[in-house]
Amino acid sequence: MAEEKKQPRIGVFVCHCGTNIAGSLDVKAVQDYARTLPGVIVADEYQYMCSTPGQKKIDDAIKEHDLTGIVVAACSPRLHEPTFRTATKEGGLNPFRFEMANIREQNSWVHMHDYEGATAKAKDAVRIAVAKAALLEDLYPKSVPVEHAAMVVGAGVGGIQAALDLASAGIKTYLIEKTPTIGGRMSQLDKTFPTLDCSQCILTPKMVDVGRHPNIELHTYTEVEAVEGYIGNFDITLRKKARGVMTPTEATAKGIVGGGCNGCGDCDAVCPVIKPNPFEFGMKPRKAIYIYHPQVVPLIYTIDFDSCVKCGLCVEACGEKKAIDLNMEDSFETVKVGTVILATGYDAFPIEKKREWGYKQFDNVITSLEFERLICASGPTGGHLIRPSDGATPKKVAFVLCAGSRDNTGVGKPYCSRFCCMYSLKHAHQITEKIPGCQAYIFYMDIRSFGKMYEEFYYRIQDEGTKFIRGRVANILEDAKTKNLHVYAEDTLLGQPVDMVVDMVVLAAAVEPTQGVDTVRKMFGVSCSQDGWMLEAHPKLNPCGTTTAGVFLAGVCQGPKDIPDTVAQAEGAASAASIPIHMGKVELEPYFAQCIEEKCAGCGMCVNLCPYSALDLIEKDGRTVMHVTEAKCKGCGTCGGFCPGGAIYMQHFTTPQIVAQIDAFLLGGEQ
Ligand SMILES: Cc1cc2nc3c(=O)[nH]c(=O)nc-3n(C[C@H](O)[C@H](O)[C@H](O)COP(=O)(O)OP(=O)(O)OC[C@H]3O[C@@H](n4cnc5c(N)ncnc54)[C@H](O)[C@@H]3O)c2cc1C
Ligand code: SF4
Ligand code: SF4
Repeated sequence: MAEEKKQPRIGVFVCHCGTNIAGSLDVKAVQDYARTLPGVIVADEYQYMCSTPGQKKIDDAIKEHDLTGIVVAACSPRLHEPTFRTATKEGGLNPFRFEMANIREQNSWVHMHDYEGATAKAKDAVRIAVAKAALLEDLYPKSVPVEHAAMVVGAGVGGIQAALDLASAGIKTYLIEKTPTIGGRMSQLDKTFPTLDCSQCILTPKMVDVGRHPNIELHTYTEVEAVEGYIGNFDITLRKKARGVMTPTEATAKGIVGGGCNGCGDCDAVCPVIKPNPFEFGMKPRKAIYIYHPQVVPLIYTIDFDSCVKCGLCVEACGEKKAIDLNMEDSFETVKVGTVILATGYDAFPIEKKREWGYKQFDNVITSLEFERLICASGPTGGHLIRPSDGATPKKVAFVLCAGSRDNTGVGKPYCSRFCCMYSLKHAHQITEKIPGCQAYIFYMDIRSFGKMYEEFYYRIQDEGTKFIRGRVANILEDAKTKNLHVYAEDTLLGQPVDMVVDMVVLAAAVEPTQGVDTVRKMFGVSCSQDGWMLEAHPKLNPCGTTTAGVFLAGVCQGPKDIPDTVAQAEGAASAASIPIHMGKVELEPYFAQCIEEKCAGCGMCVNLCPYSALDLIEKDGRTVMHVTEAKCKGCGTCGGFCPGGAIYMQHFTTPQIVAQIDAFLLGGEQ
């Protein structure tokens, strides 16, 4: 805090950003104006300040004019603050003696047609930045060690890929999955576009690799209960839900040698309780003690205690393995990790909310995920597509695209769910191939086949005879006698109304973030976009990161994407999450709160206000005073804004700096 005071000697550099800035305001006039400001020793301008020659101007000016502070008037600090801080440091100044004035995103881009106004606003921004730069102090980032372990939350294909990559890079990885098995939605699919490989065949080897990787500790039927800490040192408490069945390891730990579940299924055979299997969307039954499907990883049964009648038949059938504990309760475990990847995926939008399409009203209206199970050889019908109403093989099937997507009515979702066009093309192919003479009709708004070999796949489906009707389906009605369906739409290419009678309708329902994901998102301090998907740090330059240091995103939790894009993002997230771990330490921005102990009354009110639990009260020299854990403090300023005694000092956002900025704005202006 205490620093040798020197008269401010500021250098100002105004960037043209090609024509991004210079096309909308007078850069030269801003430069000339900067020269008139108190403390400004040199003012320059350049085409691209972020380029090597631009940065060299900063470096040279610091040395030549013995500057104490730098202002660059250019783009957003989110983009280039680190670049200019480095240039400031290379010139020999502390990098935190740099201030940025945003004259692009907040000025030239929004005032493109107001040259005079934009120029005046740029001058204001420069004046405000110079006022702060005059009061900047040397700051020093803190280094904290990073735990050599990572956590991945969600074990769909995204989470699986991320965990395998981290583990293969030598990092101990905890993979957390809330359901009894890993695999996510991909394990429910039959084939995958555009190559039509069998989904299970390409996913199962990865699932098996997870199960036996020495660096992966798999926790299924487990959820994150609480998160404490910060990058490098997250303490994460897990709730291991009572599954009622012990693994061999758990049994051994309890002294049951050679015991634990081996997946033999003897319990399943005797259990008297029958329930719908959610993996099959209720189209197949399961028992109260169950596995979702034969390829589950880990192959351990789970008891649904909401429906178990505790008859004890399974305990008897399990015999010497003694795997079943009907009195098992949730247990908790806290683990420490350096970085985290969230990969919580998606759920289908409840399409019954769109009443006009008749889902859950008419038997023969199904969703695309139900179609996947019906067409899959391991599904409830052994891969035979049948009408739910009478078990007949359909001869005419309509696929309704954008069912709830690109929907601004307030009931659906305004965004594109991105994979529905492609999987509906796949579905049309599957029925054409499996049911000779069956006609597929696709009702679409546009076909979005943007990926590699996707457009070719679209042509192939056209060639196979699928008929495409461009128009959104208005409503669907059932013929009560035949259970056939009338699909009403407008063919917008022919400009004609359509009333098509089909045997079955498949709704390509929109997708939405997984239920309950807000709780886990908030525990990690991750924001979401307007539509609920987790928010990346930057859509182009940091699509795997979040604004919480050390927390990364993979797969559909960040926004709808298909399997190739999910896997690619998972690999990116794993790489990003492994960097701090391999570095062994991270530097934290020094924007911490500091307690001015002489002024602190020890009331402790700030302690409860801090959203990051960074404050506590300590005894010092016979007094109670506030103490900051710097590694936890995010410099949000909540405590500083509140403290009635003015006892909190916010580094880099001090009261004198902020007052100087306000004064510069209100009292300044061109003389
Ligand atoms: C009908 C249909 C057909 C499709 N066909 C194809 C295709 O042919 N080709 C293609 O490329 N893509 C296809 N897709 C898209 C594909 O399903 C997704 O790209 C892929 O599943 C995304 O994987 P993910 O890991 O991001 O999410 P998910 O598969 O949703 O996995 C997320 C996992 O996280 C778990 N989880 C959620 N919340 C928590 C929590 N709080 N704690 C712990 N675990 C949690 C979930 O239980 C789940 O296991 C299709 C989608 C649909 C709907
Ligand atoms: S009988 Fe025992 S070992 Fe066999 S599947 Fe059931 S719980 Fe597992
Ligand atoms: S810093 Fe302020 S709010 Fe916090 S304990 Fe001290 S006096 Fe109270």
